[in-house]
Formats: sequence, C-alpha cells, structure tokens
Amino acid sequence: MRILRIAGLLAVSLAALTSPLHAADKGLVGISMPTKSSARWIDDGNNMVRQFREAGYETDLQYAEDDIPNQLAQIENMVTKGVNVLVIAAIDGTTLSNALENAAAADVKVIAYDRLIRDSGNVDYYATFDNFKVGVIQAASLVEGLKARFPDVKPWNVEIFGGSPDDNNAYFFYNGAMSILQPLIDNGSIVIPSGQTGMDKVGTLRWDGAVAQARMDNILSANYTQKHVNGVLSPYDGLSIGILSSLKGVGYGSGDLPMPIVSGQDSEVQSVKSIIAGEQYSTVFKDTRELAHVTVGMVDAMFKGEEPAVNDTETYDNGVKVVPSYLLEPVEVDKSNYEKILVESGYYKADQLK
Ligand code: BGC
Repeated sequence: MRILRIAGLLAVSLAALTSPLHAADKGLVGISMPTKSSARWIDDGNNMVRQFREAGYETDLQYAEDDIPNQLAQIENMVTKGVNVLVIAAIDGTTLSNALENAAAADVKVIAYDRLIRDSGNVDYYATFDNFKVGVIQAASLVEGLKARFPDVKPWNVEIFGGSPDDNNAYFFYNGAMSILQPLIDNGSIVIPSGQTGMDKVGTLRWDGAVAQARMDNILSANYTQKHVNGVLSPYDGLSIGILSSLKGVGYGSGDLPMPIVSGQDSEVQSVKSIIAGEQYSTVFKDTRELAHVTVGMVDAMFKGEEPAVNDTETYDNGVKVVPSYLLEPVEVDKSNYEKILVESGYYKADQLK
C-alpha cells in the first residue's frame, strides 16, 4: 500500500516536472484573422496565441489573406477539428452566417474580434475598441493639424477617405469623424472640393492602399489644378501611405507646397516613421495586447461557466441581435507623444522606429 502511495506521488511529481508550465489542457481555440498584409493583424494573432497558451489553451491560428472563401474554409476546418471557441476578425462581416450556424450546431462559442460579425445570431461576444471614438480622434487630430499648419487658410480644402464598405468598423470610423467634420463643413470652415462624401463614395474596398492612392491621384487631377489640398481624413495607416505617395507625386511636402495633414490608424511602423519624418500627421494606437487580453478573458469566463465582462450592451446591433461587447480606448499618436505611448509602453523598441 505504502509503496503504491509513494509510486503514485512520484508519478504526480514527475508529471508536474515534465508538463509545461501552462498545460494546454483547457480547450482548443480557433483564431481566424483576415490578412498578414497589415502588421496589426500579425500582432493580434501572436498576442492571442501567447496569452491563450499562458491561460492553458491550445490555439489554431489561420490567416485568410483577404480572401472570403479562404476564411470560410478555414473556419469550417476549425469546426471539423473540434475547436471549442472561434475568435474571428472577419474579412467581410456579412458572409459568415452559414459557417457560424455549423459552429453553433457543434456547440462552438464565437467571439467577434475587432470587427463585428453581422447578420448572425450565433455571435456570443464582441471584443473591440470604441470605433466611433477612433473616428472622432482622427478628425479632431486633422482639425488640430489644420489649425497649426494652415492658420491663415480659409476655408481648408479637405478630402475624405473611408474604410472597406464590408467592414462594419468603417461606418463607425466614418460617422465618428463626420461628427467632428460636418459642423465645420456646415459653417464653411472646411470645403470638400471633390464633393465626395458618404461611405458609398469614399469607401476603400479591402482597405487597399493602392486603391486609395489611385483615388487620390484622380481627385488631385480633377479638382486641384487651381487650388491646394490642406488635409486628408484617412482611416488607416495603409491608406495614408498610398495617399501620401500620391501627394508627394505632385510635389506636396517639398518646395513651397506644404504637406497636407493626413490622419491614420494602427500605429504601424512605417507610418510612425512617416510621422517622425514630418509626413503623416497622426495615427491612432489600439493596443492589440489589451484586445488579446480581453478576448482571452472572455473565453476563460465562458469556459468556467461565468459571464464574460462587457462594458457595452447597446451599440453593436449586428442585424439579428445586439452583441454584448467590450470596448477598449483608442489613443491619438503624433510626433509629440509617440515615444511615450509606443516606446515607453514597450509596444515598440526605439530601434524599430529608426
Ligand atoms: C480595424 C483597423 C484596421 C482596419 C484595416 C479595421 O477593422 O479596426 O484597426 O486599420 O480594419 O485593417
């Protein structure tokens, strides 16, 4: 008996020694990300894998390269593999209803990550940032920049870019920005020489920087032979880079043609460098470490049979239900504060921005 007990104890302590610090025994989480073409989604994926592992989960991380059938196939595969939870940042938030029905039939929980999944009752929670506020920050920063760089220009000539029309976030960014810009358009402080406003006219499919660059080229040649552009509302760093190339192509930022104020989002390395170089004016920082943390917390709560923490149960109606959400705070970043916000917080190393 005694020998058996000792053998048992030995077996337990041996298992403790040989098993990893955080045994991945709680469940399998399928993480479906839209694309690797933008650094933020790579960070999101890596942060989640790390934090899920630390919390005791196994992960299956897949990127769909902005191809909708690819994302659908990856999700179906994850369900077949037996994931317990799906964390999805949708390419097109309206295309997942069937896939999620199959997931629900297999008792798989679903978290919409960063982007709301629309037209499905099978979305359990939504982890994201305050997307309306992102737009407010972008437009407020644009106006601050216009005042600083063009104090004597009246009215300011501004052009507006929107995100991908199949991404629910794009409308929140646009509406948030217009809540600041529309009153200035109405009182004549800002004009839009192209006349292009409204998401149907300013949207940029798949958030494609080349598409934004081509649209900016057209706007400049059609509307700016006699006047100068002072500002461009851009909702994402990848678009800002295209817009800036177009502007530089016709001489802005050199000679006596000052660079227009251009906003952005995601604090991607290339754009932070551009901000330091005095080209892009600002961006928005959304700490993907925090978003991963909230998401892992949601999964862990569901796993324990508890209610995940949410702080918004009103805003995100996906067409079938209001999805309980946790909204994180976005932060404005420009030349004056990038070191404090991006480097001191450990998000980037100073070297990366050189
Ligand atoms: C995200 C942004 C990102 C954009 C393009 C949006 O859904 O919220 O952070 O800039 O997609 O990837």
